Formats: sequence, structure tokens, C-alpha cells
Amino acid sequence: MKKIIHIDMDCFYAAVEMRDNPALQDIPIAIGGSSKRGVIATCNYPAREFGVRSAMPVAHALRLCPDLTMVKGRMSVYKEVSGQIRGIFQRYTDLIEPLSLDEAYLDVTDSPHCHGSATLIAEQIRKDIQQELNLTASAGVAPCKFVAKIASDENKPNGICVIKPEQVRDFVAELDLKKIPGVGPKTLERLHQKGLRTGADVRRHSLEDIQQWFGKFGGSLYERCQGIDNREVKTDRVRKSLGIETTLAENIDSESECLQVLTSLLPKFEQRLHKADEQAICRQGIKVKFADFTQTTVDQSCAQLTPELFPSLLKEALSRGQGKPVRLLGIHVGFSAKQDKQQLSFNL
Ligand SMILES: [Mg+2]
Repeated sequence: MKKIIHIDMDCFYAAVEMRDNPALQDIPIAIGGSSKRGVIATCNYPAREFGVRSAMPVAHALRLCPDLTMVKGRMSVYKEVSGQIRGIFQRYTDLIEPLSLDEAYLDVTDSPHCHGSATLIAEQIRKDIQQELNLTASAGVAPCKFVAKIASDENKPNGICVIKPEQVRDFVAELDLKKIPGVGPKTLERLHQKGLRTGADVRRHSLEDIQQWFGKFGGSLYERCQGIDNREVKTDRVRKSLGIETTLAENIDSESECLQVLTSLLPKFEQRLHKADEQAICRQGIKVKFADFTQTTVDQSCAQLTPELFPSLLKEALSRGQGKPVRLLGIHVGFSAKQDKQQLSFNL
């Protein structure tokens, strides 16, 4: 079972503007088109009370809320803050899939933080964001992506909603189908024509029926309504290396002992390597941290993990330490750059 967190910043652009200019704090504001013919990108909660919404034409918004203050967006600032938010995510997991500047999925299934509790990690991330960036985020925690995403909206703003694995089926049964990502107004109308409004309604039909009515979308709709979503969290970053290390219970200074420790790391490392399912290995290396906390790494090119290279790598590393005792040892491999088709087509 996976542990997925969906983090969504609360009215992000507007929140950044209110943070940086307290005069905007309690009045209705919207970020968006510089002319009246533009549309609203984001607005704050005081503006929402008037019915102003994202993607609404500015002229319409001004009719609903004549005192609405339009603020020119500062995209470069939002990008910078988004990077800071990402830095906070990275403390807890490498598996981050950004959906936009203010929204991301995190897979924390194997995260060692907070005793492995996704709920505690989500709370800690929200706290970090609040304390360090003075902004609020909402979180959804669930065993799959689409439930996490819907959950993050449940207690917005500045809230968290946790759907435990055993709660998924009930949660989806009561779910209004319009909340499922990808269900737009047109699809919703067609669903309603078939009498389908909630997950439970869909479950009363066979997969064949649903597919016949809705084609390919029907297949995934059927799955979602069973609480199934097998999509992985897709990271945009290519992993360049993978390593494992251990701090020794006591410093050691013999080469053979060091070699033993390196070898003992292999089973766990191979397991992680297998799980990471990465592209081709192009080098491997070791890391040695000495008693005085100085450290060194030695790498060598190779096409696969080759433990037979450890003795020579270790000899070189230890010679750099000039006899200092060793307090930490690690092994790592580097991967050659991935060249997937998508990337190539962007470069064309
Ligand atoms: Mg948001």
C-alpha cells in the first residue's frame, strides 16, 4: 500500500501578495489580467465571498465585487517561492511530482521521517511552510493519488484530510463525481444523463456498461469508483546517483574492517538499486568520512555495480586520510543521463 500526500497551497499567488504587502491582507484582491479583458488567475478568500473565482473574466469579477483590488502578478516571485516549497518537500522525500507552482504529489511510502507516518509528514510540511515562508498549505493524505488530491480540498484553507486505506471505499462511494480530476462540465452532464452522481452510482453498473457508455474514460472512472488508482508519482527530476552509507558504532582504522563494512552494505544497496529502476550505471564509488569529519569520495567508471573494485577504491580513499580513523563509509553509483523521447522532442 502506498502513502501519497497531495499538497496544495491556499490561493497561492494572492497569499504571496498579501504576505508581501499587508495593506492587501483583509481586502478582496485578485491576481490576473492587467486589462479588464483578462481573466482572474487567483483571488483571496475575501474576494471569494463575493463569488469571484479563478478563470473568471476580470470584468465579470468587478461586477460581482466593485471594490476588488486587481494586483499585477509577479511570476518570478511565485517561481522562487515555489522552489522554496519544493526544498521543504525534499527534506521528506525525493519522489515529488509537481502539478503546478503551488501543487504537488509526494510519495512518502519509504520515507524514514516521522516514524514513517504520512500524516505526521504532511503536518510537518505544512508547519515548515507556515513557519519558514509565512504561507499556508492544505494537504490530503491517502493510499493513492486521486483520493489524496480530492482530500486536500476537503478542509481548505490551512487544513488536512487523511483518508486511510480502510476508508477509501466509503469515501469514494459518497464522492460527487464532479470532484474526480478530469471530470469537466460536459462529462458531468453525460454522467448525470445516465443517472450517475456518486461513486456508489457507478458501482451499481458493470465495467462493460460503463465502458460502453464512456469509452476509455469509462475504464478509469470505473477504477476510481472502486477506489483504485495505480498511477505512480512521476518525478520530473532524473536521479543522477544513488548511494547508501553507514555511520560506524566506533571509529575503525584497519583497511580490512573498512572493506567488510562496505561489503555488508551491498545487499541493502542492491535492493534499493533494483527498486529505483534507474537507467544505466556509468560509475561507482565510495565515500569515507574520517574521525575529524573531513571526507573524501573516490569514483571509477564502470557499466555495472562491481564490488571487486572496492579494495582499490578504498586504498585510494584511505591514503588520502593519511591514517586518520574512519567514522562513516558509503557506496554509491552514478547513472548516465536519460534521453527519453519527450525530452528530445522538446529540444527539436
Ligand atoms: Mg492551490
